This record gives sequence, C-alpha cells and structure tokens, in this order.
Amino acid sequence: MLKGKVALVTGAGRGIGREIALTLGKNGATVIVNYNGSKEKAEETVAAITAQGGTAEAIQCNVASFEESNQMVQDILAKYGRVDILVNNAGITKDNLIMRMTEADYDAVMDTNLKGAFHMIRHLSRTFLKQRSGRIINISSVSGVMGNAGQSNYAASKAGLIGLTKSVARELASRGICVNAVAPGFIETEMTEVLSDEVKENVKNVVPLGRMGTTQDVAELVLFLAGDKAGYITGQVLHVDGGLAM
Ligand code: NAP
Repeated sequence: MLKGKVALVTGAGRGIGREIALTLGKNGATVIVNYNGSKEKAEETVAAITAQGGTAEAIQCNVASFEESNQMVQDILAKYGRVDILVNNAGITKDNLIMRMTEADYDAVMDTNLKGAFHMIRHLSRTFLKQRSGRIINISSVSGVMGNAGQSNYAASKAGLIGLTKSVARELASRGICVNAVAPGFIETEMTEVLSDEVKENVKNVVPLGRMGTTQDVAELVLFLAGDKAGYITGQVLHVDGGLAM
C-alpha cells in the first residue's frame, strides 16, 4: 500500500508514535523513527519494523529546535531523496492550574507540540511542493478541541495545531498535498498512565464507547490518511476518541 514511500514520524520510539511507525512500516513505507531521549526504544522500534520485513532508521532530534529539525530533514533528504508522509506526533504535557503554571512549563509544551510541528512542516514544505505530493498528519488532541482544566498550555498547543493544519492545508492544496489533524481522546500510553485511577475510571463514564483507546485505534486512522484512498481529504480534524467530543 505504501511501497516506495518514505515516512517520517516524530517521537516514534514509544507510545502512539511507535504504533504509527510500526503500522506504516508494515504497509510498505520506509520509516524514519525520530526520537529525542528514548534511543533504546527507538532502536527497538526499528528492530520491530525490520523483523516484520520493513525498512526503518532511527534519528535523534529535538523537534523543538529549528536548527536540529532542519539538520534532520537535510540528512533524510540527502540519504533518501524524498519524504512522502510527515507525522507530527512528538508531544509532551506539563499540567497545572493556570494560576500555578510557570512560564517555563508553558513554553516547553508550546515549543515541542506546536513549534515542533511548525519546524518540520517549514523544513519539508519545499520538498513536498517540488514532489507535487505529500501527506502531513498532525497529532492534535481532544483537549485542543474541548479544552481541559489543568491543561491550558497543552490545550493551547493542540488547538494551535488545528489552525496550523488548516492554514497549511490551504497553502499546499494546489499541489495535491493533503494536511490533516488527528485528535485522539484518552489513549493508553505512558502519557495517560500517570492519571489517577479515579480519572481512568471516570473515562468509562464520559466516553460514549466506554473505554480508553489503544495506540492501534490512532495508527489505523493515520495509515488511512497516509494512503492513496484519502487523497480528497484535507484541512480536517478527525477524532479518535470513542465519541468523547461530538
Ligand atoms: P508519550 O508516550 O509520552 O510519548 C511522547 C513521544 O513524544 C515520545 O516518543 C517522545 O520521544 C516524543 N517527544 C517528546 N518531546 C520530543 C521532542 N522535543 N523531540 C522529539 N520527540 C519528542 O505520548 P503519547 O501518548 O504516545 O502521545 C503521542 C502524541 O499523541 C502526543 O502529541 C500527544 O499529545 C498526543 N495525544 C495523546 C493522547 C493520549 O491519551 N495518550 C491523547 C491525545 C493526544 P522521546 O521519548 O524520545 O523523548
């Protein structure tokens, strides 16, 4: 399905990014597994893709840095000559009530979640335009759509991603490039592992489908958006949240 395509997934050593990398790799894409701190996990993800017959490589880069992300893109282009699918998945949380939130925690979340996606799109946009094809998939969140108490920095970054998605979708559409956002709800990863048992139990009450989502639930949607069958979908926010936001 994705044979001959090169996919770059940020933050792909663990969690949702790992599952997306595995799924794209299983479907024939050559996958660049970006990581920041989790070298061993990224290498393990590469090994898992290779074990299922795919091709992958791990590259360290802090996407919050304009220079580092540019260097990563240049290295990938020098080696592979193209990028067909960009998945901006890297993300962090630093939750607190607004009156206690530090400037450093606000900035760190914005720099990784929103500016990181800007960096990647900015550095790859010329390549996509020249290729006259490409898919950009930004991993937003239900928090960016509904807001969430204690997550004003995170929700702002994820809402910002939606504006970024729609603007870039309009800019790149004439060259056949599709840009969409995926908004997961509560997904079982290390990010949500820290939630209290009470919050996890409450998820079952507030999510119409009555359970937390899995990383596969998200990866299957990303696979669809990355593939040929999604060529008439752009500028959209697709929810994978068990009906939480409707
Ligand atoms: P996770 O398990 O905490 O993983 C976060 C990933 O982001 C890691 O691979 C991490 O890489 C990477 N990352 C963080 N900072 C980075 C940086 N500066 N440069 C490069 N990579 C960086 O989180 P997750 O649950 O899989 O979340 C993945 C995405 O889905 C995030 O954008 C998150 O906001 C979004 N999301 C998650 C949920 C959920 O319920 N889990 C819901 C909605 C949206 P290293 O370990 O290498 O640093």
